[in-house]
Amino acid sequence: MVKQTIQIFARVKPPVRKHQQGIYSIDEDEKLIPSLEIILPRDLADGFVNNKRESYKFKFQRIFDQDANQETIFENIAKPVAGSVLAGYNGTIFAYGQTGSGKTFTITGGAERYSDRGIIPRTLSYIFEQLQKDSSKIYTTHISYLEIYNECGYDLLDPRHEASSLEDLPKVTILEDPDQNIHLKNLTLHLATTEEEALNLLFLGDTNRMIAETPMNQASTRSHCIFTIHLSSKEPGSATVRHAKLHLVDLAGSERVAKTGVGGHLLTEAKYINLSLHYLEQVIIALSEKHRSHIPYRNSMMTSVLRDSLGGNCMTTMIATLSLEKRNLDESISTCRFAQRVALIKNEAVLNEEIDPRLVIKRLQKEIQELKDELAMVTGEQRTEALTEAELLQLEKLITSFLEDQDPESRLEVGADMRKVHHCFHHLKKLLNDKKILENNTVSSESKDQDCQEPLKEEEYRKLRDILKQRDNEINILVNMLKKEKKKAQEALHLAGMDRREFRHSQSPPFRLGNPEEGQRMRLSSAPSQAQDFSILGKRSSLLHKKIGMREEMSLGRQEAFEIFKRDHADSVTIDDNKQILKQRFSEAKALGESINEARSKIGHLKEEITQRHIQQVALGISENMAVPLMPDQQEEKLRSQLEEEKRRYKTMFTRLKALKVEIEHLQLLMDKAKVKLQKEFEVWWAEEATNLQVNSPAVNSLDHTKPFLQTSDSQHERSQLLSNKSSGGWEVQDQGTGRFYVCDVNARKILPSPCPSPHSQKQSSTSTPLEDSIPKTPVSSIPLTGDSQTDSDIIAFIKARQSILQKQCLGSN
Ligand code: ADP
Ligand code: MG
Repeated sequence: MVKQTIQIFARVKPPVRKHQQGIYSIDEDEKLIPSLEIILPRDLADGFVNNKRESYKFKFQRIFDQDANQETIFENIAKPVAGSVLAGYNGTIFAYGQTGSGKTFTITGGAERYSDRGIIPRTLSYIFEQLQKDSSKIYTTHISYLEIYNECGYDLLDPRHEASSLEDLPKVTILEDPDQNIHLKNLTLHLATTEEEALNLLFLGDTNRMIAETPMNQASTRSHCIFTIHLSSKEPGSATVRHAKLHLVDLAGSERVAKTGVGGHLLTEAKYINLSLHYLEQVIIALSEKHRSHIPYRNSMMTSVLRDSLGGNCMTTMIATLSLEKRNLDESISTCRFAQRVALIKNEAVLNEEIDPRLVIKRLQKEIQELKDELAMVTGEQRTEALTEAELLQLEKLITSFLEDQDPESRLEVGADMRKVHHCFHHLKKLLNDKKILENNTVSSESKDQDCQEPLKEEEYRKLRDILKQRDNEINILVNMLKKEKKKAQEALHLAGMDRREFRHSQSPPFRLGNPEEGQRMRLSSAPSQAQDFSILGKRSSLLHKKIGMREEMSLGRQEAFEIFKRDHADSVTIDDNKQILKQRFSEAKALGESINEARSKIGHLKEEITQRHIQQVALGISENMAVPLMPDQQEEKLRSQLEEEKRRYKTMFTRLKALKVEIEHLQLLMDKAKVKLQKEFEVWWAEEATNLQVNSPAVNSLDHTKPFLQTSDSQHERSQLLSNKSSGGWEVQDQGTGRFYVCDVNARKILPSPCPSPHSQKQSSTSTPLEDSIPKTPVSSIPLTGDSQTDSDIIAFIKARQSILQKQCLGSN
């Protein structure tokens, strides 16, 4: 058992704006416990909390300042926890802090760069690397991903569901057994045999989470996400299994309802926005008070799920994420205070070992059979009916293979049936007699042959003896040679086995590199897991395809609008950047793959050459009647050192390719996710545009859809025509395709139909009331939106009009 208080770490996020000096300081004297001091500026301290104290000091295990990178965080915080999970203890890492302080960045990672990947992907990488190294145990890894929003649990990994809102995901409920163990009903566990499979699951869950989020639920700030790695291990042949769970938790934003600063003791009274965080605090308070017997775990789903992590059988670590900007100081102080309380909680982690009943049953069944056999022998209870033909045949087969088996330890197992035992003896006797007769026959015929010949002459006899001696020598040489060859062949086989194994891990990159642009995937997983790999990939790509591939089902107008939206979107820069990096990595991997292939065939050739050389040497020795030279010749030495060199080169390239593979996989997943996000935001924007259009359309107002405010124009030279320049930065435009007039608010990425759709409005518009005032306030929800091709073409016309205006503006300003 390991007793340990919850470890607390702090991480300070780099500020969005330039660093505001003097707000905090970190004291990291090696002999003392590191402390973080938050200094309140005078203007804030005035009327602030706790009798206007101006500075607050908090102790942490370690404090990571703004410049700490993801690698440092992983190495110092997550790696030790992952290590104890590998040893069989439960572990939890949770990030706590206000929205925007870097919880998701720390736990999952940033959405842009590969180097920004967070604790989850790095931990997966580390765990799978360690599992591969340890061949003394059989490991199984499962992944689950749970989201808790509003006291409801949702399974983010359910493959059967296409989540477009949280409610579409399967609901997870809590069950408690008589021993008060918590079980989660409906939370699926997914087997992951490789790092990639586990990574795919992480991205699948994250994508589901993103898609399910709506402006109404704001799940990313108000929900808790628990990514769990379930690891079980057992030694071969043993019935004892160890189970360990690692929860990686991204909590909801810890901001409170009332912003302090109004004075007094508001800070302590302020309630969390998220009720379950309030319950978490209650649990923490109860645990940190010494003589409390009742801990209110059951108050919320999150505290129930994390029950073991808080004051139970678990090694737990908390990361307090801090955004130490002036306006966030009160929240940062709350976060630190919470951490100080958490640090008082003692956990007791034990090894979770259990006996696997299935394995025990198997072992017992075998034992029972053996005992039955023994009993039958001892009691002499024997069967009397004759053995069938088939049984006899089977027995004879057994005897033959027993006799052929070179292993001196081999046994003839026929069970405790005396009929069979007797038959075996009979059969063996028969075989032995047959052999004797045969030998007698040969010997007697040979002796007969000799008898009829004259006795050998002395000289002939000597000659024959010499020849015999010579042959003996040759045989000895050949036996030696064979032994050496056999040894080498075994080594070669062993090496080839290793190569094959390594290659199976690397598998296709050198051979099947796809062009990232064509959407092909570089699959580098190990062969046995490939089928599953593809199924997971299929799972992911079907989801992503559905999300990204929606474009293919879009009307042409919508597609065009999507292209424009994409071009203007900030994320497209990231996507493009990642595409470039991906391209680079792909070509690097391709080149590397080719070099690896070359190195491999070179290794093959060198081995072949060495073998040939060796055979030549031995043959030479035989022909010259010499023993095999003890010293290998120089040429062979040279070949061997070349072989070693080539193998080293191969290994270096192989390691690099492996790293590249992980990076490529990660980048592809990042891009997939970014694309889904883009698509989602486009849909929202599109719906908004459609709503605006319909809200303002006189056709809607007059309820007369057949008579739109058409203005046919004769001019076909230009599709859109600039009519006036509104002082507000908006423009009125007539679209020649539909003949409609639009007001384009260039700044707000909004295009609204003109309230006065007449060409004569030119004059009016300059004096007209502000645009917003003239928009009828129709409730948005009451307007039908999608699937209306009229709406589609309207919007596309808007966008085109807007484009043309922007172009004209650009030309004007140049
Ligand atoms: P939270 O999950 O706590 O609401 P996020 O992790 O989403 O906050 O972080 C908010 C923003 O700040 C994101 O854009 C993220 O990339 C960025 N960010 C957070 N922490 C860091 C950091 N340590 N280094 C760089 N960027 C960060
Ligand atoms: Mg977050």
